[in-house]
Amino acid sequence: ALTAGIVGLPNVGKSTLFNAITKAGAEAANYPFATIDPNVGMVEVPDWRLQRLTDLFQPKKTTPATFEFTDIAGIVKGASEGEGLGNQFLSHIRQVDAICHVVRCFDDDNVTHVDGRIDPLADIETINLELILADLETVNKRYSRVEKVAKTKDKAAMAELAVLDKIKPVLEAGKSARTIEFSEEEQPIVKDLFLLTIKPVLYVANVAEDDVQDPTNNHYVQEVQKFAATEKAEVITVCAQIEEEIAELDDEDKVEFLEDLGIKESGLDQLIRTSFHLLGLATYFTAGEPEVRAWTFHKGIKAPQAAGIIHSDFERGFIRAETVSFNDLDKFESMHAAKEAGRVRLEGKDYVVQDGDVMLFRFNV
Ligand code: GDP
Repeated sequence: ALTAGIVGLPNVGKSTLFNAITKAGAEAANYPFATIDPNVGMVEVPDWRLQRLTDLFQPKKTTPATFEFTDIAGIVKGASEGEGLGNQFLSHIRQVDAICHVVRCFDDDNVTHVDGRIDPLADIETINLELILADLETVNKRYSRVEKVAKTKDKAAMAELAVLDKIKPVLEAGKSARTIEFSEEEQPIVKDLFLLTIKPVLYVANVAEDDVQDPTNNHYVQEVQKFAATEKAEVITVCAQIEEEIAELDDEDKVEFLEDLGIKESGLDQLIRTSFHLLGLATYFTAGEPEVRAWTFHKGIKAPQAAGIIHSDFERGFIRAETVSFNDLDKFESMHAAKEAGRVRLEGKDYVVQDGDVMLFRFNV
């Protein structure tokens, strides 16, 4: 499963946010095969379309898509040169698909800051520097090996060397590899380096309760936004403390609470939505009488791979997929009516699945 790792300096609100995630957590009974790990919080992906499909199909069961967050605690400063805990911090980051970097953007004299002052940019730099140093080590190690092979005019080695030459000076200048533009040919080479600073990042500005409604006035947030823009990163603002309270409410109370605060979407829902976007994910549905269910897929995959997300047999024996867009189903209100209107398509193995597709797979066993 895809996972986003939560990182940040001590006392910025990571645990508070992670608590909100586990409290809001997906109903374990729906996901009997999920591993139980105290550092992993699984949340349901909010999607209004699922409710609409449930109203239309009246299934016995509705199952939302889920998304995982991993709490990456641990020593940050000196991690790149450190043994033990420092290394563990880096190896945990290596395993996640995206990074949620929590940054303290609230003043509160009762909560001490590790460095004695609130300075979100310095906080961001502290963590990024460790990741950059770890990447520099990776690149340097690779460099000496590839340089030798490239001298023999080996094409692959020469191509890799060119990529390393592009990355190295950027890291040396203290910038993340994600700031670099790579060509289509370069991308697979970059991917094979498994760099940390290439991973998509989302800065989570943790603001005070008073700032939730209009965070644009918060100058800390403005600084984070300016920095994120240089890095192709995204920023969301949350108040971790409020999120913890919201996570304990049922849906109705939640709507009311958010209205009172003057916000449309909870920080947690924003976090899930933005993480989805960062990772290039989308949703397709299966809908029938036994179950209406949302499935997460990587944009760009074809129908057989989408079927394989449900079961590998579906992919192996794929014949075709009866497909209707959510919008058409929403409009015609039943499969039957959508069919009569000619809106149900039979898609083959080359069909690129679209967000919101409602699919029924035909396959050989
Ligand atoms: P961590 O070390 O990053 O996991 O930080 P914690 O989640 O333990 O938070 C550190 C302290 O900051 C705790 O006392 C929290 O109650 C407090 N805190 C977290 N989020 C907020 C917030 O949005 N506003 C204020 N005022 N305090 C917060």
